[in-house]
Amino acid sequence: MKKVIAFVVSSFVYITCFAQNKLAAFPLSSVQLLNSPFRNARETDLQYMLQLDPDRLLAPFLKEAGIPPKKENYGNWESTGLDGHIGGHYLSALSNMYAATGNKEVLRRLNYMIGWIDSCQRKNGNGYVSGVPGGKAMWQEISAGKIKGGSYSKKWVPLYNIHKLFAALRDAYLIQGNEKAKEILIKLSDWFIDLTKNLSDDQIQEMLNSEHGGINEVFADVAAISGDHKYLIMASKLSHKAILSPLLEKKDSLNGLHANTQIPKVIGFKRIAEIGGDTSWANAAEFFWNTVVQHRTVSIGGNSVHEHFNPSTDFSSMIDDAQGPETCNTYNMLRLTEKLFLSDPKSTYIDYYERAVFNHILSSENPKGGFVYFTPMRPQHYRVYSQQQECFWCCVGTGMENHGKYGQMIYAHDANDLFVNLFIASKLDWKEKGVSLIQQTNFPYQQTSSLKFTTTQPRSFGVHIRYPSWVKEEEMQIIVNGKRIKAVKDKNGFVIINRTWRTGDAVSIHLPMQAKMEYLPDGSPWASFIYGPIVLAAKTGTSDLAGLKADGSRMGHVAGGALYPIDKAPMIVTSESDPALQLKPVKGEPLHFTAANLIYPLSLKNLVLQPFSSIHDARYMIYWRVIDEKGLKQIREKLKQEQKQE
Ligand SMILES: [Zn+2]
Repeated sequence: MKKVIAFVVSSFVYITCFAQNKLAAFPLSSVQLLNSPFRNARETDLQYMLQLDPDRLLAPFLKEAGIPPKKENYGNWESTGLDGHIGGHYLSALSNMYAATGNKEVLRRLNYMIGWIDSCQRKNGNGYVSGVPGGKAMWQEISAGKIKGGSYSKKWVPLYNIHKLFAALRDAYLIQGNEKAKEILIKLSDWFIDLTKNLSDDQIQEMLNSEHGGINEVFADVAAISGDHKYLIMASKLSHKAILSPLLEKKDSLNGLHANTQIPKVIGFKRIAEIGGDTSWANAAEFFWNTVVQHRTVSIGGNSVHEHFNPSTDFSSMIDDAQGPETCNTYNMLRLTEKLFLSDPKSTYIDYYERAVFNHILSSENPKGGFVYFTPMRPQHYRVYSQQQECFWCCVGTGMENHGKYGQMIYAHDANDLFVNLFIASKLDWKEKGVSLIQQTNFPYQQTSSLKFTTTQPRSFGVHIRYPSWVKEEEMQIIVNGKRIKAVKDKNGFVIINRTWRTGDAVSIHLPMQAKMEYLPDGSPWASFIYGPIVLAAKTGTSDLAGLKADGSRMGHVAGGALYPIDKAPMIVTSESDPALQLKPVKGEPLHFTAANLIYPLSLKNLVLQPFSSIHDARYMIYWRVIDEKGLKQIREKLKQEQKQE
């Protein structure tokens, strides 16, 4: 560890100068969403956020500072030990939402809450501020080295909790330019450095055995914001060796680990590498991403069973368990993907990003409001949704953030060129270049997108259009001002159009989509139907949806209703090498298909496959057991035997 820290510090100045050449995302305020399911999801999120009461979210911070709160804490996770974590997420979500919409009430709330966080920090007097109940005494114990067996280990992940405030202050400064947030953040960081100054590296590692979000990432961000390398040293110290070491050796030791605890640590490794220049840490992050995406991810882009990484060679628990992929994990995988893409713009990163955003993230909010925690892959199970005044889980926090930042990765740019990553209707304003661009599309409901440019004066630059992995070789068509060009992929998987762009220039893109079946990563006979990047699922009923609107109980976030027998779930019976060819479009309903020749039993053969993101308040099938006639016979015999025994 020590050696790594020395390297990180010595190369700090060098690398920050060098960072200019890499890609950057556009600020959310430069990307306006046009009509699409994504804009609708953002509006639903905005309404949800506006119904929350900032004074109730602030109460834990005021109490901890000894200031009488104006109102009581919310209940659920906000008053059972994780008090204040939603306040942190809410501030990050407000920053995104204001940048994306310019909504004045959102800005008022952001400034109001930052004002109170500032008051709490001043009252505490030493830079400390948080909502962790009884935090002051606990942090003192930590300072004295009493970590294991002290109150730290008995509280509910205090470092994870306080990380949400660190991240909130960073976001309020970096996204919204709130200077007060920056001041509070620096003071809070200094308090933490002082608090831990007498701890050995081993004691800090011991502290990191408890879930701690992206605490290392945020210290690296503070180093970049302030230009002071002492924060980068802290970021390195706060990097969990037990996770980093095997990744440095390119070993996947993730089986059985709490999944969402690990992903933010890796974002931190990547961020520290970006600033400090240690390529081995960047490689570790890339290795982790490849491992998770290729071997541990289901079709919707999510991972984990019961919050933990299942064995990569055995996904049976993924099919059995009612607690499938958690939304927070995908939120964090997307943040990691963005960082990896911006430093190495390969289209494979965006292929994953698209899959996860169009399927898992978009589906994790009910169009009537409410966020999803677990998305079970279990046949014929269902999901439950948060209620605004009742539920304060982690996935409500990341949920509020998710739907405000769909504009984040549609485009990116380097010093000269523009990248068109995603096909989402939007308007981009590239201020530095005097270029704006309108992307009109109803993708994925239509297989085309069009770009129209406006420039203050003619501008020469390359437009890199992503060639999605789901479009067959030589099938993507690109037409510039009425003339078809050769859509040749570069080494990164983009088609580059270099020209002088003028107002009125138009590009149309044709993206032929195909259906396919995608098996679970362990090779077991369970498959999901995909059309282009869209996961198709079937609604199988709306009964027995116990707890559909989650209450404030400890396990309200789990769909605890009846588990329907897996053996009796509909299946795909086929001997064909490409069964997806049997999908028949439903007339007049884009992205709806029947699979009557494949589905067994016959009584269910008319089930309709549709985008998973459009299925709510229902039981569903995403993964189907795939068998041939012989396998079907065996299953029927087994069922018969079981019936006889009953
Ligand atoms: Zn969560």
